[in-house]
Amino acid sequence: MIINKDQIKEHYDIVIIGAGIAGLALSQLINLEEKNILLVESGDFKFNREINRLSHAVVKNLGNWPTKNYASHYSRIRMFGGNANVWGGWCMELDDYDYSQNSTWNILKADLKIHYKKAYELLNIIPQNIDPDKLNMKSIKPYSINIARGNYIKNSREYLEKSENIDVLIKTNLIKMNLVKNKISSVILENLNGYTNEVKLEKLIISAGGIETTRLLMNFLPDENLNHNLGKYFMEHLQIQVGRVSIKNPLINKFIKTYSPPTVKHLFDDKLEEMESKYFSGFKSTNQDVRNYFVLRNSNVYQSKSLYRLRHVILTKNLNSTGSIKIKDLFYLVIDVLDMFVKKIKSAFTKNKSYSVVLHLEQKPDEKNQIYIDSDDTVILDWNFTNDDFVNLKNSIIDLNIIFNEMESDFELNDIFDSDEKKLKNYLEKNIFGIGHHMGTTKMGQNENDSVCDMSQNYYGIDNLIINSTSVFPTGGIANPTLTMLALTSRLAERLNNE
Ligand SMILES: Cc1cc2nc3c(=O)[nH]c(=O)nc-3n(C[C@H](O)[C@H](O)[C@H](O)COP(=O)(O)OP(=O)(O)OC[C@H]3O[C@@H](n4cnc5c(N)ncnc54)[C@H](O)[C@@H]3O)c2cc1C
Repeated sequence: MIINKDQIKEHYDIVIIGAGIAGLALSQLINLEEKNILLVESGDFKFNREINRLSHAVVKNLGNWPTKNYASHYSRIRMFGGNANVWGGWCMELDDYDYSQNSTWNILKADLKIHYKKAYELLNIIPQNIDPDKLNMKSIKPYSINIARGNYIKNSREYLEKSENIDVLIKTNLIKMNLVKNKISSVILENLNGYTNEVKLEKLIISAGGIETTRLLMNFLPDENLNHNLGKYFMEHLQIQVGRVSIKNPLINKFIKTYSPPTVKHLFDDKLEEMESKYFSGFKSTNQDVRNYFVLRNSNVYQSKSLYRLRHVILTKNLNSTGSIKIKDLFYLVIDVLDMFVKKIKSAFTKNKSYSVVLHLEQKPDEKNQIYIDSDDTVILDWNFTNDDFVNLKNSIIDLNIIFNEMESDFELNDIFDSDEKKLKNYLEKNIFGIGHHMGTTKMGQNENDSVCDMSQNYYGIDNLIINSTSVFPTGGIANPTLTMLALTSRLAERLNNE
């Protein structure tokens, strides 16, 4: 049930920090007959500007698209449901490359295959696979993207309100962890009015999102427990529109139309109780070494900062959820909406269909990409476009030429990609963007020397501290991360239920 500070018990078996999709799912998967749980959430049930200021962090280098500090600050919604209030719901599994190239994923492969089933169930997905023969090309195959259905946050709230063994405390922050030897004995929680409570616990699970989980550990663990890899190897999925392609072949155009990405409307389907299965096709190269998937759509929406921000505003019902809005932002919004309609109308009347080409690139773990806290206590996300990223982008563009050649289509690469390296890198730093996929900074692995958590997501060196977040990912893969995080959550719940 939802409780207030006066109803907090002195002791809980499990305390979960963060009621984003990871914390919500875990609390509902734990067998409650023998355990009591406290779920602590910093945010309110609706977007609150003041509370969201607590997510403030500064980006160095990448991460200022569509607004300053988007990647470090505005893509971390502090609200019951967390970032699932604004996410797109696109779900895919890790692929063979991920399992074959990373020993941690390889060891987890069999478990993930089992627990993906639970993850699909949680998101009300009946997974669909688009038959490659429908596209019938050598250089690419369809990349099936299933979309979460149903109002997960609303349903979770209803479940938690009725639950007698889960206490939910909103508008409350974890502000201290107390350790006795190698165990967390209690935590200090503080509500918005500054009232504090000490809660004793058996297990602490942090599900506060990729960046915040890392910050909490950095801020509140004693120096001797700070793992030297904590905060390192931040990864995102780099997205960039590289050009437009014009396709004559009616069969390919029919395929794209049939399996086209959803419009913004899909974000509201669950609220309208429209529960049709939702999936669409991205495209994935058959060349295993090119690490991206790409999406084709009529309009240039991915290029539009203003439409991206409008989406956040509508979903959070708050004008400031990506920063303050200026007159020039409204001007660009009008231009981009008009451009979207013109492209749609043009496409309806021509046989040659033209699509924007948007790459979603894997970013390999790199020590340079990291989160740290600077001398005046500001959280810094130092996120860079690395040489590996540059090579992956260049290879991806070469590969796109092969693909569009096979399609006998006209690919117009944006001129900037033919510029010299310095100019191009400068452009990419301003225009490449991530999408709130914060991975890697508490990575798991078999060895304490090169990872922060063990293979069961336990923080090395502390007996009862578990990390449940995309921050445990050892590599980012090309798949959007939430489905895999939920599979890990289901695996974690199974372990806790068997203890
Ligand atoms: C615009 C956008 C679109 C996205 N689209 C997709 C997509 O299509 N597919 C996909 O797979 N992923 C997508 N993502 C990523 C996806 O939203 C996240 O992977 C997922 O929501 C993370 O869930 P989480 O529970 O781990 O963390 P969060 O959602 O960050 O939740 C953490 C919660 O912890 C709370 N918290 C933080 N600090 C404290 C504290 N000290 N005390 C108490 N509580 C605290 C926060 O308020 C928050 O509610 C998208 C992200 C964004 C921003």
